[in-house]
Amino acid sequence: MARENQFEVIIIGTGAGGGTLAHKLAPSGKRILVLERGGYVPREKDNWSTKAVNLEGKYQTKEVWRDKDGKPLHPHTNYYVGGNTKFYGAALFRLRKEDFSEIKHHGGISPAWPIAYEDMEPYYSRAEQLYHVHGVRAEDPTDPPASAPYPYPPVSHEPRIQHLSDDFARLGLQPFHTPLGVMLNEQDRHKSRCIRCETCDGHPCLVDAKSDAQVLCVDPALEHRNVTLLTHAHVLRLGTSPSGREVTRVSVQRNGATEEYSGNIVVVSCGAINSAALLLRSANDKHPRGLANGSDVVGRHYMGHVNSVLMAISKCPNPTIFQKTLSVNDFYFGSKEWNHPMGHISFVGKLDRDTLRAGAPAIAPGFTLELMAHHSLDFWLTSEDLPDPDNRVTLDGEGNIVLAYTPNNEEAHKRLTAKLKELMQQQTKCAEHGHECHVGLFARNLFIGQQIPLAGVAHQNGTIRFGRDPKTSALDVNCKAHELDNLYVVDASFFPSSGAVNPGLTIMANALRVGDHLLERLR
Ligand SMILES: Cc1cc2nc3c(=O)[nH]c(=O)nc-3n(C[C@H](O)[C@H](O)[C@H](O)COP(=O)(O)OP(=O)(O)OC[C@H]3O[C@@H](n4cnc5c(N)ncnc54)[C@H](O)[C@@H]3O)c2cc1C
Ligand code: SF4
Repeated sequence: MARENQFEVIIIGTGAGGGTLAHKLAPSGKRILVLERGGYVPREKDNWSTKAVNLEGKYQTKEVWRDKDGKPLHPHTNYYVGGNTKFYGAALFRLRKEDFSEIKHHGGISPAWPIAYEDMEPYYSRAEQLYHVHGVRAEDPTDPPASAPYPYPPVSHEPRIQHLSDDFARLGLQPFHTPLGVMLNEQDRHKSRCIRCETCDGHPCLVDAKSDAQVLCVDPALEHRNVTLLTHAHVLRLGTSPSGREVTRVSVQRNGATEEYSGNIVVVSCGAINSAALLLRSANDKHPRGLANGSDVVGRHYMGHVNSVLMAISKCPNPTIFQKTLSVNDFYFGSKEWNHPMGHISFVGKLDRDTLRAGAPAIAPGFTLELMAHHSLDFWLTSEDLPDPDNRVTLDGEGNIVLAYTPNNEEAHKRLTAKLKELMQQQTKCAEHGHECHVGLFARNLFIGQQIPLAGVAHQNGTIRFGRDPKTSALDVNCKAHELDNLYVVDASFFPSSGAVNPGLTIMANALRVGDHLLERLR
């Protein structure tokens, strides 16, 4: 292979995992090649158009996968420099300390991780620094211990959300400020990069003020002359040496041709579904079930959280612009009445008419989408789904992705939803309007809920789990494949269980942890 195609490290994918790792390794001076199947998100006014983003799916992949019944699946995922962090809501949570241990759920067992929270803690603090996280420690009753304060103060609530927070507190809950990765300076708005707009969650940031992996990691990494990024470089297969112990070839489709590269170390970070697909697609004589798959776990244990959006349509209007500032974790581990974990309550970005048209929830008679959006509080509820070996990524005869998934642990989610509805019915009078703010607009209480369907793969994880036992895991504790000496995986695939908070910060922290290991190895 030509010398210019040989590298010390190849990183495949530039999202939360790959982008963060590139940033970590860049100052080492090692020859690093970063391969990304997408290009840069074009900077244009449509970045902030809910019609273009949510209704027309302008930036979403047009790839079609299949579900377990062979039905077409149009995944809500994005292939760009920065991966899905370009579109995420930037709620950057640590997993809870307990999430690293075995937890008994109503629907089964959430298994322990092979490392403890304390092993990850220093990397969480570094990831919070790197991704400019705003928050307040210990406001959240389930907050794990931290060695450093949040690097930035919490993002303030707008009046309607503050009112809700006060009401929740009066009901004995401990609502808290959602930890958020935005480059916002509320003390000096004139100097703030973030303008606190309504099109953050699900949208790319037109002014590059969201803490995404492109802006904060990939672009700074490229300032190092030893780092090369190839965009529109779709990795098709990994080839190994005759012994099967090393990846020796990375085959890439670019500009209509196939190119080959080699790296002393190869790191896969294509997102949990595409990484599993890549390893399965790379099966050879030495790895007949797919690369690193002697255990037959690659592709299995797919998790994506049980997520839903619940619109509480209130009498008071909700003029909030940036809604994603409030969270509630009081029921994360259960309640007085129900001794099983339920999950996490927070918000999505403020829904508007076009977004509602895209999601098309059942509309109450007499309502227009506009009116609904004007009066709704738009909650996001997350419960943990459990790693089921039959929930899995496989390939069809043509090498296309098949995602088989049967939901589990749904009782927890039902209870969480019921709990939130119950709380919303106990709100106090609002000083401004003189009536119960949260009572339904026309009916006494109106809630419109929708569980996120399988195509909503935003929180995908778990398909190439790490562990100490090569019989039950594909990766070791450093996220190196048990069966190969130079293959690592640093995206969300490594999760053995997923907790019930957003996965981004854990992926970033883990990439920094694996980065430390790789720097040691590369010395
Ligand atoms: C709308 C939305 C909102 C979200 N909100 C939040 C939130 O508020 N908080 C949070 O923590 N998480 C959130 N998430 C989830 C979060 O974005 C993901 O968990 C995270 O980005 C996953 O990181 P990753 O490295 O596993 O994969 P990704 O970020 O998806 O990166 C994978 C990269 O690999 C590239 N790639 C794929 N296949 C190949 C290939 N064969 N060859 C080359 N390159 C390839 C992709 O183009 C992509 O750049 C959200 C996601 C979405 C879509
Ligand atoms: S300006 Fe701020 S709120 Fe708007 S998209 Fe960018 S980071 Fe999000």
